[in-house]
Amino acid sequence: MATPPPPHSTGPHAWPSQPIGPYAPSPGPYVAPPPANSYPPPHGAYASPYPPGPYAPQAGAPACHICGAMPAVPATVRGHQGIVVIMRFLSLRGPFCRDCGLSTVRDMSAKTLWQGWWGPLSVIITPITLLANLATWDRIRKLAAPTGGFRTALAPGRPLTRRPEALLFLVPMLLVAVAIPALIVTGLLVGDGSTPTLPVGACVRNEGDWANQDLQITDCSAPSAQYKVTRRLEKAGSTCADGDYLADPKYGPDGATISCLEPIH
Ligand SMILES: [Zn+2]
Repeated sequence: MATPPPPHSTGPHAWPSQPIGPYAPSPGPYVAPPPANSYPPPHGAYASPYPPGPYAPQAGAPACHICGAMPAVPATVRGHQGIVVIMRFLSLRGPFCRDCGLSTVRDMSAKTLWQGWWGPLSVIITPITLLANLATWDRIRKLAAPTGGFRTALAPGRPLTRRPEALLFLVPMLLVAVAIPALIVTGLLVGDGSTPTLPVGACVRNEGDWANQDLQITDCSAPSAQYKVTRRLEKAGSTCADGDYLADPKYGPDGATISCLEPIH
């Protein structure tokens, strides 16, 4: 058998159309691939480079943009970084399957918890970001377990409440808890330090001059005691004793009554 192959199959890669020589007329080991259109069409905006396996996606339903699994929901997970005056608004768009979504929400929220607080506006933006993620988390966690992805879904990781970053929820509360008593104490100190009401019988010292009095209530036995409050000029026409000094009216119980100050000798 010396029949030459036909001219169209003489190339090195061409499969001979007829058996040559001693070879058996078998089709050989090569099996042609099925036509490309036997795969299901890509779904949504995402086209998987892998065949979807036994879980064929429903046409039009979203698939996880990270692993390709279904079911998935369209969602945006947010993060925030605040560094004094610099702020960064981060976001990752889905769709997310349950596991990739939980992983993304937990990681971005945890980073926001320690990166988010460090600016004046960020103190307000960070809790808003966390609340938005909480709403996204609530939608994602209700999904069924992901199936049919072209790769393994992300590990959801530990819940946020069991991560050390959860302690940073306390940052704004600590700020409030520290700031309010500090303001109150400051107010009390400033208020009491400048204008105490002088009870009759108390002793005072003047740490200012007479035009700008700074009267401080003092123990009468203390060497620093200078004057004793003998009475208040509460009735019209009443006067202090000879030799008494007049306290500024702001030290009166109503902020307008003059008290008489008798020098202590
Ligand atoms: Zn996924």
